Amino acid sequence: MSRMRVDQELCILCGQCVEVCPFLGVEIRGQSVEFTDSCRLCRVCIKACPTSAIWLEKSEAVGDVDKAQYKGVLIFAEQRQGQVQPVTYELIGKGLELAGHLGEQVTVFLAGSSIQSQAERLLEYGVDRVYLYNHQALEYCRIEPYTSIMVDLVRKIKPNIILMGATPVGRSLAPRVAARLRTGLTADCTSLSVKDNGDLVQTRPAFGGNVMAQIVTPRHRPQMATVRYKVMPAAAKVARPHGEIIHCPVDEKLLQSGIKVLGFEPHHVASSITDAEIIVAAGRGIGKPEGLELLEELAGLVGGVLGVTRPLVEQGWASYTQQVGMSGRTVRPRLYIACGISGAVQHVAGMRGSDVIFAINTDSDAPIFDVAHYGLVGDLYEVVPALIQALREGGSPDAVFQAG
Ligand SMILES: Cc1cc2nc3c(=O)[nH]c(=O)nc-3n(C[C@H](O)[C@H](O)[C@H](O)COP(=O)(O)OP(=O)(O)OC[C@H]3O[C@@H](n4cnc5c(N)ncnc54)[C@H](O)[C@@H]3O)c2cc1C
Repeated sequence: MSRMRVDQELCILCGQCVEVCPFLGVEIRGQSVEFTDSCRLCRVCIKACPTSAIWLEKSEAVGDVDKAQYKGVLIFAEQRQGQVQPVTYELIGKGLELAGHLGEQVTVFLAGSSIQSQAERLLEYGVDRVYLYNHQALEYCRIEPYTSIMVDLVRKIKPNIILMGATPVGRSLAPRVAARLRTGLTADCTSLSVKDNGDLVQTRPAFGGNVMAQIVTPRHRPQMATVRYKVMPAAAKVARPHGEIIHCPVDEKLLQSGIKVLGFEPHHVASSITDAEIIVAAGRGIGKPEGLELLEELAGLVGGVLGVTRPLVEQGWASYTQQVGMSGRTVRPRLYIACGISGAVQHVAGMRGSDVIFAINTDSDAPIFDVAHYGLVGDLYEVVPALIQALREGGSPDAVFQAG
């Protein structure tokens, strides 16, 4: 790690560095200047110091990584109860795209017990290699062995890019792996692309979703990113799978863990918006909690489930599990009907991947219309009952849209 250093003999304790620091990252403690964890190495203090007492000490590791040694994309295949989780296929889709751009390969890390068939299934999606760690002790994801084994593999195969799902397991594993490899990790990416030199451009919302930050890891390898479920389209099966399964021996030393799994009890969620094909989403425009009943009725008629914006959760009108958006769930239904939703960036971040978006809003300038494929300017308390009536009568809702 690079760090700021101070020559205490040259330092005259004038406090200029403390004053100019935009991050409150420097303090005078007693008779010396100290840099805190808030320091961002921006070097403003170096310029401000009248006696040139401050300098940036670069770590030896910086710039030392030979990027040419790192090739390909490695995907972490998360399995639960012996089933590879769907986010893995989405990561494979993106991995194939990135590797295709660089003319490199896509490999998969899969650990578990009796999961040969899952490894074979992964090959059907066009990956080049599945590194399979089959061992009774890997049946459940205990974080220490999974970290040790994955780090061991990464050190051997040196991938340029590692992708993991932003699931509870991925969020726990990725930072541990990144810390051991002393490399960068960008969480919850909404978009990924790669430059010709192999640098991964990782886009994610920052500052409360008000800006989309593009993050690169130019000096370290591998480059690591997590991506939420449903943010990216899943890979399709290929006609002629060509990959191979590498059966990796499990080093008993790497299985050490302080965690003992006593059992596994699945948590049943009644109807998850994450997997729903159709979502009828309610925003603050409903005005009163009773409005949810109306939209629930519509959802029932179209075979969908109810989603909400964050203000409705904050009001206590709906559950957090129903919230769509940056701090809620990311969804990718075939149809998303947005009712009384303005289209704030934090909400749109969670639903813009929907196949078809239909928005109803009284305000023709509402930003939701920028992402909607179909929009209807009108009062939801007029439009939705008319839709419900049309659907109940077995007629086509077209009449309502035409009237709108
Ligand atoms: C860090 C952070 C994270 C956030 N995460 C999320 C998140 O995950 N999900 C999320 O949703 N928000 C999130 N937000 C909040 C977000 O910024 C917005 O405040 C929120 O999405 C607005 O919700 P809304 O569209 O329901 O309400 P509003 O913005 O108030 O919009 C209501 C809309 O309803 C329309 N309307 C009013 N009456 C009617 C009617 N009778 N018929 C039809 N239309 C009508 C209005 O024209 C208006 O466009 C987050 C904010 C922050 C700072």
